[in-house]
Amino acid sequence: MKRKLSVVIPCYNEEENLKRGVLEEVWDYLKKQKYSWEVIISDDGSSDKSLILARQFARKHPGFRVLKNKHGGKPWAVWKGIEAAQGEIVLFTDMDQSTPIYEVAKLLPWFTKGYDVVIGSRGLAREGFPWYRRLMSTIFRFLRGIFLLREIEDTQCGFKALRRKVALEIFPKLQFFQEIDKPVKGWRVSAFDVELLFIAQKRGHRIKEVKVAWKDRDVAMGKKKNFLKESKEMAKEILRVKFNDLRGKYA
Ligand code: UDP
Ligand code: MG
Repeated sequence: MKRKLSVVIPCYNEEENLKRGVLEEVWDYLKKQKYSWEVIISDDGSSDKSLILARQFARKHPGFRVLKNKHGGKPWAVWKGIEAAQGEIVLFTDMDQSTPIYEVAKLLPWFTKGYDVVIGSRGLAREGFPWYRRLMSTIFRFLRGIFLLREIEDTQCGFKALRRKVALEIFPKLQFFQEIDKPVKGWRVSAFDVELLFIAQKRGHRIKEVKVAWKDRDVAMGKKKNFLKESKEMAKEILRVKFNDLRGKYA
């Protein structure tokens, strides 16, 4: 039978989440589905026990497999996972299950309605969002509104599905990868989503945004991140995509 869904989970130092049982949550849901699926855990060169834990899990759970990659940041791990995927539709989602896997049920029906890219949206009321992240996202949306992707309310939700065919066409066009010259150190997510969606839209793919449940589970777990640096990176990202477009990089 043709595989329908490939779930790609980038994984960078996720020992805490893995121990919390996030993969069990994914398994519990997917095993009940009638369609065929696979889960690809795309390890982003973790320096903790993530790789060992993920492999242990995959050994005991059919449909799960693990890819080992050099550390390159989230977008790179997602891309490696998509390349290895076999499903007609690929969903990428975060290990922390900020958007629980069962929300995929809200995304899938839109593919039969002719959409190529179906993305989760966190809406405006974000549970567990501290004030500085709220402020950051307001500024980000304001900038994006001026320059590109005006119709999309939330480009940054880590829960996105694409037809694999379309993903294979768009990802290689990401200038994001071409512009990485320095080796990536430490945690890196950054705004590749904007570029991804922009290219998809430019190439005439239909994008559907669907409201999904979302709860920022790392903040609750006290992970420390430099949000100011992230905001600056995102603003730069929007300008970068706009600039690349003007130079005809996405033609
Ligand atoms: N991630 C990754 N490489 C990195 C940073 C993050 O592969 O350098 C993965 C991480 O394991 C998770 C997803 O990307 O599955 C999103 O990371 P996180 O939940 O920390 O980000 P946030 O919730 O702040 O967007
Ligand atoms: Mg998260």
